[in-house]
Amino acid sequence: MKKTKILVLEGDGIGPEVTSCAVEILNLLNQKFELGIEIERDYIGGVCIDKFGVPIRKETIEKAVKYGIVLLGAVGGPKWEKNQVRPEQGLLELRKKMGVFANIRPIFDLPVKSNKTNTQFNILFVRELTGGIYFGKKKIYQSAKGKVAIDVLKYTDQEIRRVVKIAFEFARQRKKFLVSVDKANVLASSKLWREVVNEVSKEYEDVKVEHHLVDSFAMNLILKPWYFDVVVTENLFGDILTDEAAVLVGSIGLLPSASISSRRALYEPIHGSAPDIAGQNKANPVGAILSLGLMFKYSLNNDHIYDLIYRAVIKTLSRGYFTFDLSPNNYLSTWEFTQRVISNLET
Ligand code: NAD
Repeated sequence: MKKTKILVLEGDGIGPEVTSCAVEILNLLNQKFELGIEIERDYIGGVCIDKFGVPIRKETIEKAVKYGIVLLGAVGGPKWEKNQVRPEQGLLELRKKMGVFANIRPIFDLPVKSNKTNTQFNILFVRELTGGIYFGKKKIYQSAKGKVAIDVLKYTDQEIRRVVKIAFEFARQRKKFLVSVDKANVLASSKLWREVVNEVSKEYEDVKVEHHLVDSFAMNLILKPWYFDVVVTENLFGDILTDEAAVLVGSIGLLPSASISSRRALYEPIHGSAPDIAGQNKANPVGAILSLGLMFKYSLNNDHIYDLIYRAVIKTLSRGYFTFDLSPNNYLSTWEFTQRVISNLET
């Protein structure tokens, strides 16, 4: 049987708690369907700094690049906030070295009480992940008039084109409607972004394209989420807008993501390490569990298992089982909730 190796990096805070739930489900499915998946664990983030003095080791990156599939929890926390080397640098380096330049974030309404809208929505965000202001040169210096801070926001047409093409491909498979979000009335990088989107759109004449400015898009995302289908945007805008979209769904703990390139992929919930609830068995594992689902869909080309996982989560929530973030007065622990999801897996 062909073996598939997956690297699991639990990270910090609630990272290990939610990742262990996803891995429990992965182990069950692996056994049941004889998938031949081998799991290897390693360190990233603050725990890696504590153990090895760096936020990620070279050999960990080499394994991630070689296996091509990584399941990740979250990194960071107050313990390392004043460190010169931050846990988040490990994640940025991992994404860059794996070359996973497109972050795919499906945002759909789930049967939870805290859902902030009465309408149905199903949006697929495609966020550029390895360029833009997060990777530009940064500097804080003292000038004659006081302190000055500079962050460089740079994009090349190639970086834009490859992520925009992925968004067009998704749009083609879905409703053939793509919204591109930028700030082309102010930023040079956005002007280039818009130019490239228009150029690529010529190869996808069956897909309708709209350009939205990020400020009005942020408003319309709340007002009419049902209007959008596939949305493509740059790194910083995507980071902020997908957290905003999480509010529509009901909790940031519910949302998964996949960071992809043509050869490799990194799967992680969109939330951070949530230090305020870490170690309390209170975290919502749905984002991590659905990230596992996305791994089956995109890396293992197994839509059947993706559907099983997705349906088990929907069933669990529909039957009124919630974690603390969704129902603070009557909730299941992280682990109890996961057991419910497992019992709803229709294998
Ligand atoms: P966060 O996402 O960790 O937490 C924001 C809020 O959402 C908190 O109140 C938290 O309790 C809640 N929350 C998050 N995930 C949850 C879950 N699964 N279940 C229930 N509640 C959940 O964001 P933050 O507080 O801004 O950041 C905390 C740390 O995480 C920081 O060090 C930050 O740099 C890091 N971070 C890491 C990643 C990543 O690893 N990809 C992403 C964002 C933030």
